[in-house]
Amino acid sequence: MQFRPETYRLPDLPMRPFIDSGEIWKYLNNTQSTPEKVQDIIGKSLDKNRLNLEETAILLNARDEESKECIKEGARELKKRIYGNRIVLFAPLYIGNKCSNNCTYCGFRASNKEQVRKTLTDDELVKEVEALEESGQKRLILVYGEHAQYSPRFIADTVKKVYSVKKGNGEIRRININAAPLEIDGFRIVKEAGIGTYQIFQETYHRGVYKTYHFRGKKADFNYRLTALDRAQEAGIDDVGIGALIGLYDWRFEVMGLIRHTNHLEACYNVGPHTISFPRIKDASMLQMGDRYFASDEDFMHMVAILRLAVPYTGMILTAREPARLRNELIQYGVSQIDGGTKIELGSYVSNEQNRDLNRGQFRINDVRSLNEIIDELLAQNMLPSFCTACYRLGRTGEHFMEFSVPGFIKRFCTPNAILTLAEYLEDYAPEKTAEEGWKVIEKNMDGLNKNIQKEVRHRIVKIKEGKRDLYF
Ligand code: SAM
Ligand code: SF4
Repeated sequence: MQFRPETYRLPDLPMRPFIDSGEIWKYLNNTQSTPEKVQDIIGKSLDKNRLNLEETAILLNARDEESKECIKEGARELKKRIYGNRIVLFAPLYIGNKCSNNCTYCGFRASNKEQVRKTLTDDELVKEVEALEESGQKRLILVYGEHAQYSPRFIADTVKKVYSVKKGNGEIRRININAAPLEIDGFRIVKEAGIGTYQIFQETYHRGVYKTYHFRGKKADFNYRLTALDRAQEAGIDDVGIGALIGLYDWRFEVMGLIRHTNHLEACYNVGPHTISFPRIKDASMLQMGDRYFASDEDFMHMVAILRLAVPYTGMILTAREPARLRNELIQYGVSQIDGGTKIELGSYVSNEQNRDLNRGQFRINDVRSLNEIIDELLAQNMLPSFCTACYRLGRTGEHFMEFSVPGFIKRFCTPNAILTLAEYLEDYAPEKTAEEGWKVIEKNMDGLNKNIQKEVRHRIVKIKEGKRDLYF
């Protein structure tokens, strides 16, 4: 069979599969870790260089406490240097849970007759979005099962509908998507609707193991899923998110798979993934899973720190699958985006019900704090909650985004935009006490900005107080 080479784009030839399980295991088995090597690699990462597979394997093979502590501290330092103390906030919105696949770990799988199936109607969708806007959300990720009804056109229509909803000063300014892989034409249709990131998780990067969880249905095709983001790129979507579901296989192997996927995207399209996700498997309706590959909290933290060092410029997402305690800690070591006020039961943002019925949602979430509670806690840690959507709206995505990911960018754009979006939140949605704290944190963060930018930010805050919205750099 003829393959298209990895670094050459030719849509009419199947692409050479770029994940080689044997190669990954070779790195993991044959790489020795010493405290000196670990220190050198952390230094390279702090100089803002992405790590290669061998260097990542050395960090993964570090077993002594001293090296593990250095990795954690390195990740903390890198997070501070590149991302400052901003945390981007978003919410997931489940559009439909019909699914024709049978992923053994998921409550939505077709064979689970206990799951209550639902697809939001247009009216319900509008009400959900209004409720989200009224809590202050500006960024959503729409989530879909894999089903004939959820065609690219359907996905695009739901995206356009969500963008059209405006409640008070509320609006959704960025919509990301988590859905099944599409053909290039399908990706074109959803791009045209104005999506931000197209996110899809490989679940496990081990080809053989993948088969055991996805033995039939469309998702059984490992390569088709693996190459989804190449088709997205061919369709012009240069803002993509990758992920692995932690617990299906050895987490060290999955970290290597994520880095290999990153290398591949960089080699072919000059830009790596915009975000990396690493959800851990949670309890789900009629779950059919053992815990052989369970990653403990300690391993999970170590994993997040290694990922932070391995891909310095990639956003890292940690969802409400994890409890508040762990999320609060992991934002110090690398996580840059979290969801807040999350409800995953279909249609539950309008009601005040909390996600407790596993037959109405995909899995159990473990952080049920409201958006405002999360903001309060972030402010108390002097973190800067951000609803910024400026880069994607100004075309600073993909290759362009890489250009902008240079020293100074954060202080010129990200921190000012975080301040402005927080100021909007404080004006429109925050209770008095949150607002009081919020303005103090804004003031503290002004100190780090240069005088001209500070002046412009202050000027725009005055405009926000006068009622202007959506001001960004
Ligand atoms: N149906 C699409 C697909 O499979 O690509 C959309 C994704 S699904 C709704 C979102 C993600 O949730 C999956 O890719 C999987 O990684 C994750 N997931 C599924 N079951 C889970 C569970 N029990 N615990 C945690 N995450 C789970
Ligand atoms: Fe369906 Fe996605 Fe769940 Fe698999 S993970 S059963 S494809 S919703």
